Amino acid sequence: MVSNKTVLVTGAAGFIGSHLCDWFIGHGFKVLALDNFVTGSMDNIAHLTKNKKFKFIKHDISKPILIPGKINYVLNFASPASPVDYLNLSIQTMKVGGLGTHNALGIAKAKGAIFLLASTSEVYGDPLEHPQKETYWGNVNPIGPRGVYDEAKRFAEALTLAYKKVHKMDVKIVRIFNTYGPRMRLKDGRVVPNFIDQILHGKPLTIYGDGKQTRSFCYVDDLVDGITKLLFSKATGPINIGNPCEFSIREFAKLVMKTYGGKAKIVYEPLPKDDPKQRRPDISLARKELGWGPKVPLENGIKLTMDWFKNNS
Ligand code: UDP
Repeated sequence: MVSNKTVLVTGAAGFIGSHLCDWFIGHGFKVLALDNFVTGSMDNIAHLTKNKKFKFIKHDISKPILIPGKINYVLNFASPASPVDYLNLSIQTMKVGGLGTHNALGIAKAKGAIFLLASTSEVYGDPLEHPQKETYWGNVNPIGPRGVYDEAKRFAEALTLAYKKVHKMDVKIVRIFNTYGPRMRLKDGRVVPNFIDQILHGKPLTIYGDGKQTRSFCYVDDLVDGITKLLFSKATGPINIGNPCEFSIREFAKLVMKTYGGKAKIVYEPLPKDDPKQRRPDISLARKELGWGPKVPLENGIKLTMDWFKNNS
């Protein structure tokens, strides 16, 4: 696909944002990349800066910005996204989810662009329904430690749909489940970089709680495939994109050891407050509406991620 269309990506120097920039540049689009480097890094996009079709602006999307020229798509991916980050950056997290989404929607409206919101499985909170379908309203503690992220994203979903209704805009909402891969920050506190960092440095793996809580991990290439399929589809969503293969954190620790080819000690640490007990996406809607499903098995994805961390940390 070669295109002369322009894509604006907020959070472009982040883990997922930077992979999206790669995809769009690889498919001939012009990319206008915005980031304020609160959790993103120039390292993630440095390889693109020589490309004539790539332009970077350092900007915090919680503040308004006037952008000249045509924009065809706005992809709103700016936000701290790891529980440790949004605990430390609680006000920034609410501002970027609320004001940032408002500003990004404003740009899309002014340009007549299609708008895509990165939402999250966190809108389901600590889910009482399993697996999670898009029709589930969730079980979120608004005043708990995760509330700043969960409620900001819930607000962002509502605002996006209000813009669709009031301004007749073409909008899309993706609910992203746990995603991993190269360019995650080694110190972002999430389980994938933590375990990989620990095993590579001969440290014990830290399991929070009893490790029976579950997550379902999606490799970043599969996620990007799902997001781009949604962007070019007729669907609005919200639509779950994630890998439905569910692992307990204990099982995941074993898989990391097996992939590494060595054993590590395990230490049990307290479970963070409101840590969801189980999480697995129901992806029937994505299969039906987008013809999408994940392809990369966890073992392969963890191997690729480990290799990347070996060379980049
Ligand atoms: N977790 C863990 N050890 C770690 C980091 C995380 O046991 O070193 C657990 C965490 O309590 C949660 C799961 O792994 O149950 C996934 O946590 P993560 O921070 O990756 O993201 P979440 O899915 O909670 O947003």
